[in-house]
Amino acid sequence: MKGECHGHIILDGYNSRHSLSMHKGQPNSNIIMERLKIYKDMGITFFRDGGDNLGVSLLAAKMAPAYGIDYRTPAYAICKFGSYGGFLSRSFSNISEYRNLVLQVLELGGDFIKIMASGILDFSQYGVVTHKAITEQELNDMINFAHSLGLAVMTHVNGAENVKAAITAGTDSVEHGFYINDECLSLMAKKKTIWVPTVTPIVNLIGKGLYPDSVLKRIAVEQLENVKKALEIGCIIAVGSDAGAHNVFHGKGITQEIRYLTPCFKSKNQMYEVLSEGERIISQRFKSPKLH
Ligand SMILES: [Zn+2]
Repeated sequence: MKGECHGHIILDGYNSRHSLSMHKGQPNSNIIMERLKIYKDMGITFFRDGGDNLGVSLLAAKMAPAYGIDYRTPAYAICKFGSYGGFLSRSFSNISEYRNLVLQVLELGGDFIKIMASGILDFSQYGVVTHKAITEQELNDMINFAHSLGLAVMTHVNGAENVKAAITAGTDSVEHGFYINDECLSLMAKKKTIWVPTVTPIVNLIGKGLYPDSVLKRIAVEQLENVKKALEIGCIIAVGSDAGAHNVFHGKGITQEIRYLTPCFKSKNQMYEVLSEGERIISQRFKSPKLH
């Protein structure tokens, strides 16, 4: 595989507030060029961004072909007012506002829709997901609307119940999917939902002293066990490191994600086959409706 299926070109891996401040007023093309060059030099030819509300990923998508990169962006992520992810999103408080945001993604030239359906992990306590999640009924309406316009949906979601809701509602991909369970895995296999398990942000936090290592290790081990189970039942898995997130650096992130996922596979060959197929399916589904 030659791609990063979940990255954030706007973020620097150190500090999200500082990263965003570098693009105040207008997207900083020098920063974008530096990061695209890292990927070009590594031979990365595909990048799926998680979106931002400063137009950075949209500009990156325009610049990327000069670096030989097929770049996909949702423009911005979409989150419910007051939920997690506001710093990279535009928010809605009712379905008609959501629909307007989706229509704007099309106007801006976004390739797909990114939904923030739940919070993130509370790294200090095992089993806890922050923020209120979007309900299955709401997700159903949201995803159906995106699909009716030919847009695929990438859903940020954690927690078994929330992941199940997203899969049942028809999301094209589950991003992160921590605390997933067997029921979610078989649903994913049945519905051919793509899973991007992003283990790198968690593994890279181990030993940093910011959160209890016992909690981080338990979450990482469990996620990798679930990836293994997912592979056994034929789920579609793709490599996304969440590049740009805290402690996940552009370029290096992909190499780390592949390294961390390696023990889940029977052989390197099987790994390259499965992950290349995951990326191929993503690149096919997550493209602008204009190109379908
Ligand atoms: Zn992300």
